[in-house]
Amino acid sequence: MTTPKDEIRDVELRERLTPEQYRVTQQQATEAAFSGKYVDHKQDGTYTCVVCANPLFRSDEKYDSGSGWPSFWLPLAGDRVHTKLDESHGMRREEVLCANCGAHLGHLFPDGPPQSGNRFCINSASLDFVPKDD
Ligand SMILES: [Zn+2]
Repeated sequence: MTTPKDEIRDVELRERLTPEQYRVTQQQATEAAFSGKYVDHKQDGTYTCVVCANPLFRSDEKYDSGSGWPSFWLPLAGDRVHTKLDESHGMRREEVLCANCGAHLGHLFPDGPPQSGNRFCINSASLDFVPKDD
């Protein structure tokens, strides 16, 4: 059920986000592999939620998974993201969401590097990037 407050937020998000950012974060869409701006992004800094600016991941835990999406083996802190079972598209996957605003970020797979065994497969469209000060 949507409330008037939800509708105001939705209008605000449609104005502020690009159509791709809106589809990914609000409608659980997945951007095309190798299409996102952060796939091969290697700068030092923090990846934040494009919707609410919650810091989610760090460049330190980003790695090249070859999947075509930005991949991290650990979130910045465990409480920054939520996961929940997603059985859409005939698959059983763990959906990854922003713990602060509920934006859809991507999926979690158990085939990550040895540091954690986890691969947080995240859409570039759900992220913003804040470079590290030096
Ligand atoms: Zn958020």
